[in-house]
Amino acid sequence: MLDMVKKNIIRGKCVDISSEGKGVIKTVYGVVFVDSLLLGEEAEIEITYAGKGVSYGVIKRLITMSKDRIAPKCPISTACGGCCFQNATYEYELRYKKHKVEEAIKRIGHLEGIKVNDVLGMNNPEHYRNKIQVPFAKDHKKVIYGFYKSKTHKIIPLKQCNIEDEKAGHILEAIARLMEKYHIDPYNEDYRTGIIRHVLIRTSRSTNEVMVVLVSNVDTFPGRNNFVKELVKIRPEISTVIQNTNKRDTNVILGESDKVLFGRGFITDEILGLKFNISCRSFFQVNPIQVEILYKTALNFAKLSKNDTLLDAYAGVCTIGLLAAPHVKKVTSVELEKSAVINGINNARLNSINNIEIIEADCTEYINKELPKFDVVIMDPPRKGSTPEFLSAIKKIKPSRLVYISCDPATLARDLEILSDTFNIEEVQPVDMFSRSFHVETVVCLRLKEQ
Ligand code: SAH
Repeated sequence: MLDMVKKNIIRGKCVDISSEGKGVIKTVYGVVFVDSLLLGEEAEIEITYAGKGVSYGVIKRLITMSKDRIAPKCPISTACGGCCFQNATYEYELRYKKHKVEEAIKRIGHLEGIKVNDVLGMNNPEHYRNKIQVPFAKDHKKVIYGFYKSKTHKIIPLKQCNIEDEKAGHILEAIARLMEKYHIDPYNEDYRTGIIRHVLIRTSRSTNEVMVVLVSNVDTFPGRNNFVKELVKIRPEISTVIQNTNKRDTNVILGESDKVLFGRGFITDEILGLKFNISCRSFFQVNPIQVEILYKTALNFAKLSKNDTLLDAYAGVCTIGLLAAPHVKKVTSVELEKSAVINGINNARLNSINNIEIIEADCTEYINKELPKFDVVIMDPPRKGSTPEFLSAIKKIKPSRLVYISCDPATLARDLEILSDTFNIEEVQPVDMFSRSFHVETVVCLRLKEQ
């Protein structure tokens, strides 16, 4: 095979979309993945990375334009890398997401004849995110904030992100100006000077509460109290301010210690009528509108009844277990992270739910220890999916219904292949939780085969 050369200009037609949402061009040099190139479009492409058989490129000149191409609403959409579909219609994005799930099931899961439903999309796929974390830096005397340029630590300033809660943009702007006023410098990674590394903002859709977390490099800093006092005065929508200290040289945003500077230190949100307290570390789904659709789909698939025992595996803060609890005899939620387990226990108390047992454990170890009996299992593992040992234990305990929620079609398909000798795949429902990005969530309804 011939080699591609960096900076070369090639001409080609987009014949497919990659699992990361890039346009795919096939050439004699191998495939080229191109940012923002839509299916069917022809373009001149500049090669930005030349590899053996796989290269990357950007559009230099569009020759033919897809009818699905639109002007991006975000000025930095190509540089930021967070939203690969800002330049395409939402219908195009949803078609792609369905195709991605279908392809994974066929190619990775080797499963034929499985129908995938149309993706359940948003009415308005904008300003949905309830959590954002933004790096701060200094440009001459000005404090700037924004997003890291894709795969770098260079900040591209951005005042208003198209997918985050609009309140966050106004708060970030106020923080930047107050940092200048009180001489509180952003942290500089290269010289390890300055104070504020990141600002994290979480918002509650149901109560409108707003949490601001100042991630700093030090335990305390001059001007802190006046800064916070003025911030909550000019942005009265803020309900709590927390200082998190992270002194480590790391890409992980939050450090180990938190100090509440204003308010209760947490916010409360509601999902399908249940209350959840959210601290700065709690895992909570980022799309509060679609999460209700996701959970409703999962609960419908589970067809719960009052005599059922339910395993809520990979439980997080037990959102699914708590929503299911009123409909079953007993729920057992299993989660690895201690902080999430503590949140789960508090959430059970907050909602006066008593028929739930919350266990801090690795799901694979938990299930293989005693092979406990369950009528229904709902599992929601992280991106890497489940383990062969967990899945084979599920096949032994034979729940009559199994609901698999996944945020990665590739690992979902891999796991479905393992389950498919014991369970029938009855329905596959993708839900758009991460609009404008290439990520797609899928809920699968499985039923035990007649033995
Ligand atoms: N069901 C929850 C959380 C899903 S995210 C919700 O809808 O909000 C996946 C969760 O699985 C995370 O909370 C993660 O901490 C947990 N997890 C990851 N590996 C695990 C394992 N081996 N055993 C138990 N839980 C695990």
